[in-house]
Amino acid sequence: MRFFYTCKQAHQMLSEGLDRELNVAERAQLKLHLGMCRSCTNFKNQMTLMRQAMKKMSKDGGE
Ligand SMILES: [Zn+2]
Repeated sequence: MRFFYTCKQAHQMLSEGLDRELNVAERAQLKLHLGMCRSCTNFKNQMTLMRQAMKKMSKDGGE
């Protein structure tokens, strides 16, 4: 098992984290990667923003 995620793995974990709860090991490795990788931190922020926007849209359009 690799200790550090590659950016590709980190991106995948960030996407999966939106759909399911990551386990402790996955979260720890992701956090480690984000701590030293600015581009993945930006990616994470974008995903969070996008998710909030999508949530808002589905809320406004839906129920
Ligand atoms: Zn990265």
